[in-house]
Amino acid sequence: MSPTLFSTFPDPDQIADAAEKLRAGHLVAFPTETVYGLGADATNPLAVAAIFEVKGRPRFDPLIVHLYTTADVCRIVSEFPPLAQTLADTFWPGPLTLVLPKRSLIPEIVTAGLPGVAVRIPRHPVALELLRQAGRPVAAPSANPFGWISPTTAQHVRDGLGTAVNCILDGGPCDVGVESTVLSLMDSRPVLLRPGGVSQEEIEAVIGPVQQAIFAEGAGDSAQLAPGMLSRHYAPRTPLVVIERGETALAIPGKRCGLLTEGTRAWQAGFDQIVSLAETADLRICAARFFASLRSLDSADLDVIIAHKFPDNGLGLALNDRLRRASASN
Ligand code: AMP
Ligand code: MG
Repeated sequence: MSPTLFSTFPDPDQIADAAEKLRAGHLVAFPTETVYGLGADATNPLAVAAIFEVKGRPRFDPLIVHLYTTADVCRIVSEFPPLAQTLADTFWPGPLTLVLPKRSLIPEIVTAGLPGVAVRIPRHPVALELLRQAGRPVAAPSANPFGWISPTTAQHVRDGLGTAVNCILDGGPCDVGVESTVLSLMDSRPVLLRPGGVSQEEIEAVIGPVQQAIFAEGAGDSAQLAPGMLSRHYAPRTPLVVIERGETALAIPGKRCGLLTEGTRAWQAGFDQIVSLAETADLRICAARFFASLRSLDSADLDVIIAHKFPDNGLGLALNDRLRRASASN
């Protein structure tokens, strides 16, 4: 875990003010344990439309709705099967999102017209307090321009969205650091739509095998299966090249090269900037530092960033998914 875990807690007045803004239909950026979210009242289509505008997010990319309690979740879904209850008991509050049949209270703009709504109870204390005081479901994607590196500090939100959002709650750096795992319970077999902060192994230890949707190597855009899982996402402006774990990272002669790696991987001299995410292969530390490190490399005036892949298990699956999308060319 990051040592700065929840080091910051906004003034109670600020949270009350933010909750009031949400109820009045305004946008609020707030910390969660995964990344910072850009929230709006999920029952207010105009407020939700502003999220898409400010982010430049395509309307076909549905939003995750954040709630305070499981009882609140049950008010916006038409079914909450025993499987959902088991997952909720184990992983909520936390970085797991479930897709369940929606009720009409949730407008179509939130789900991009889909029959399911994605729901999650975050575990960051500031997010929970905001949700409690707002007293309504809050739709929130990451608080950054669409397609770019996700924000894991309040400063990242300011850097990315500038004056477009005037209410940003600062809860310190996010401790998980990658987005939530998205699991669809719309069919009889659960389907993993996006790897994230809860690993597939952790989920399978509780409910048995789950099917992986579309994030396997080589999968392209698949709007039908999992809208919004675009092949290019989470991307720096600097070209990013991903190499295998066993490969020695080599700087390209004549180019300013950056390296994103863990302490346990091999590289040769010649890099202008090196970020080693963790001295040991602790994937939780790697995940917590991942987006901020990519950002610092992206702002170092480099020609190329080279990144070592992570192991294909646990949080490594989520990190490799982000690396693959961040390095995709479209
Ligand atoms: P984020 O990009 O973190 O806002 O997460 C939203 C992602 O969750 C979308 O891009 C989809 O992949 C997934 N998602 C959200 N809502 C739904 C839904 N109703 N049905 C299927 N997938 C969804
Ligand atoms: Mg996002």
